[in-house]
Amino acid sequence: MLDNQKIRSQFPFFKQTESVYLDNGATTQKPQNVIDAITEFYTYHNANVHRGVSEFASNTTALYEQARTKLAHFCRVDAQQIVWTKGATEAINLVASSIDAHIEKDDVIIISSLEHHANIVPWQTLCKRTGATLHILPIDANGVLNLDVSLAMINTLKPKLMAISHASNTLGNILPIQDLLDAAHAINAITLVDGAQAMQHLRPNISALNCDFYVLSAHKMFGPTGVGALIAKPHSLSLLSAYQTGGEMIERVSFNETSFRHGNARFEAGTPNIAGVIGFAAALDFMGSSEMATQLAVEKALYQYTLNALKQIDGIKIYGDLNNNIGTISFNYKDEHNLDVATLLDQAGIIVRSGNHCTQPLINLLGVAGTIRVSLSCYNSFDDIDRFIVALKQAIELLD
Ligand code: PMP
Repeated sequence: MLDNQKIRSQFPFFKQTESVYLDNGATTQKPQNVIDAITEFYTYHNANVHRGVSEFASNTTALYEQARTKLAHFCRVDAQQIVWTKGATEAINLVASSIDAHIEKDDVIIISSLEHHANIVPWQTLCKRTGATLHILPIDANGVLNLDVSLAMINTLKPKLMAISHASNTLGNILPIQDLLDAAHAINAITLVDGAQAMQHLRPNISALNCDFYVLSAHKMFGPTGVGALIAKPHSLSLLSAYQTGGEMIERVSFNETSFRHGNARFEAGTPNIAGVIGFAAALDFMGSSEMATQLAVEKALYQYTLNALKQIDGIKIYGDLNNNIGTISFNYKDEHNLDVATLLDQAGIIVRSGNHCTQPLINLLGVAGTIRVSLSCYNSFDDIDRFIVALKQAIELLD
């Protein structure tokens, strides 16, 4: 069996609780070095960035910009391609709110059936503003994307823009994004990939993916909440008008007229989440540490172990693409309500998520009221899974 104790021991959360944390799709726990980096920032380096001429403020700016370089290195892009945001939601809204000039009435925008509300509603709103129409790539009864139909839809509908998730937060499916992106590029569509769930597990080479925009969220990568990034090709950023205006993103301001900065700086108005960005850099250090070299193997083993145990319980129905999965398992037990099962699990100290997971359209397509979702991370243990399965069997006994 794989030993991930060195990884787990870096998370103070597990030292103060007996609970089993299986809700990593919602947010990951934070390693000590991230907590320390935030405390150190406020203790020793608290200054605003890109402003003061003092050595003190310049050092803080350097720390902040080093974080950008670190993320660029992690994603294999240039630092100038990164716009800091407060999360994946804001990164998608930034694009969807600023691209009106390139979307016309009767244009088509395509998303998939598996999208999080954050990658549905901003496009719906853009369609309402511009008169474009939203089309949805289909899934089968289990929630697996129908690739052939999807490719045919892209070829026939010729969307102006396609926005798809890299991995589903509800079912864990890894989508065939390269096929979808290739088809979209062949018809010159603008492309956005929602990597909120994928980044932690898949660590994609974002330059190689060749999408116009890729969005991510620090809090799902062991970093703080309130930080995320929009990663864009340099040309793609120039498709967007200014999103928010104010300090920092300007070149010159008079009462009559203002000129804006170019590139990523045009999209970073106001004082950013400096502590969050510096904390995120520490999370990237953690992800790059030698202990994490075994992460993928650990996650794969835990996923198979969980799946096998669940499959042995009569009456459990599991949804999604179980062969291409980031380690997120959505299931129901017979006709029992997901909330009842999750509440009983919670009473046994097992923290899972239940409900629609911010994917109401997907849950409706699956024809269920919701699911119970177990989402794994590198620090979960086989003992966590054993305790979860014992608690689930006890819950089932009570419900039957
Ligand atoms: N997309 C997906 C697939 C997600 O899982 C989430 C978070 N649940 C989001 C977008 C929104 O991310 P954030 O919390 O950074 O706004």
